[in-house]
Amino acid sequence: MHTGEFEVLLGTEEIQAKVKELGEAISRDYAGKELLVVGVLKGAFIFMADLVREIKGVRVTMDFMDVSSYGLSTLSSGEVRIMKDLECSIEGLNVLLVEDIIDTGLTLAYIKESLMRRGPKEVKICSFLDKPSRRRSEVAADYIGYSIPDEFVVGYGLDYAEKYRNYPMVCILDPSANHK
Ligand code: 5GP
Repeated sequence: MHTGEFEVLLGTEEIQAKVKELGEAISRDYAGKELLVVGVLKGAFIFMADLVREIKGVRVTMDFMDVSSYGLSTLSSGEVRIMKDLECSIEGLNVLLVEDIIDTGLTLAYIKESLMRRGPKEVKICSFLDKPSRRRSEVAADYIGYSIPDEFVVGYGLDYAEKYRNYPMVCILDPSANHK
């Protein structure tokens, strides 16, 4: 579907079905255990809100990190600064890092390394979207929603200049359009 500025890549029903599937897989893997779900702000907040409600039979706690990449362009520089850190120790915990999208993978590689130094039992990664063609780090996600082509997408938490995060679909932004 084309809406002029956007091309819908993933509709609300597709998103809902995939989030349910991911929640079921996580519920199976952590059945009866404790799990700290860590969302990477801001992009992951909508996905994480949906995902945690699909995790059943697991004692879930939540925290958030906010990171910013030093590079100003959409091409990640790989240099990451922690703007907001976790509130509690993660020593001995099962941690699930939740991200909106893995592009080069440099952000997640940095966050994962930072968390691993704090002595958790394990750190796994769940990303709603993945652009495997752009990977520049070894980081691998344990749970992936959809692999997508190398396009700039917005909606379902993902922004362009802080806009469109509230769109319920994932859309490809038409770079030729004037996004007001
Ligand atoms: P990486 O370090 O993997 O290159 O960058 C990951 C971050 O870049 C994501 O968390 C997201 O904030 C941003 N990003 C990467 N690709 C896209 C995209 O297609 N759309 C939007 N809105 N952000 C993206």
